[in-house]
Amino acid sequence: MRILDFIYPKQCYGCKKTRTYFCLDCASKAKPHFPQVCPVCERPSPDGIRHKYCQKPFSPNGLHSIWAYEGIPRKLITKLKYKFIEDLAKDLSLRAIEGLQKYKPLTSQSLVAGDNKITLVPIPLHWKRENWRGFNQSEELGRLIAQKMGWKVENLLERVKNTNQQVGLKGQDRKTNVDGVFSVLSNIPVIAPTRPTSNLVLFDDVWTTGSTLKEATKALKKSGVRNVWCLTLAR
Ligand SMILES: [Zn+2]
Ligand SMILES: [Zn+2]
Repeated sequence: MRILDFIYPKQCYGCKKTRTYFCLDCASKAKPHFPQVCPVCERPSPDGIRHKYCQKPFSPNGLHSIWAYEGIPRKLITKLKYKFIEDLAKDLSLRAIEGLQKYKPLTSQSLVAGDNKITLVPIPLHWKRENWRGFNQSEELGRLIAQKMGWKVENLLERVKNTNQQVGLKGQDRKTNVDGVFSVLSNIPVIAPTRPTSNLVLFDDVWTTGSTLKEATKALKKSGVRNVWCLTLAR
């Protein structure tokens, strides 16, 4: 046991059981995000696959959110927004992949094997909370998840425009706020034309209106990426 564990013992945010921040019991009671929804119209769709009638150009192929944004997952995600605690992030991502491993579109053999290997792309640092904290929670969480799923991680996006805080903005304003905000970093092999089937998973902690993830998808697809899935811990 480390000294720190002794002074500040880890406790489950749900039941106060020690040694973990998110125990198996509480994870089994956390409300999964169900049904999954189409990333374009946000109406139910099996496996979160974009509806046939929602094929808007440059829109995400699918969306998978692990939990409903409430209860313990919400508590932990919020906690991490303000203070990044590595062990807490680890416990959260550990529980997240238990849900994710049952998700077929991102775990089927054809995707996991060889050239189609999945690459996780974190959303660049949020304007929700500025850089002063010195970490990008989505990136850190994304890395932990990718590691456990056997995915690669690449930072393919950069923010080229400063945006106002999304918090407090509604629907259309949020969309306008993120218009053209991302650009794709060039010379990255994963999106080279020789890899047209690359499967990218854009990761963010929470899907609120989806405007950020949709805008990031648009940037990636405009540079030739064919498949972009959105993955969030909660919605
Ligand atoms: Zn618990
Ligand atoms: Zn739809």
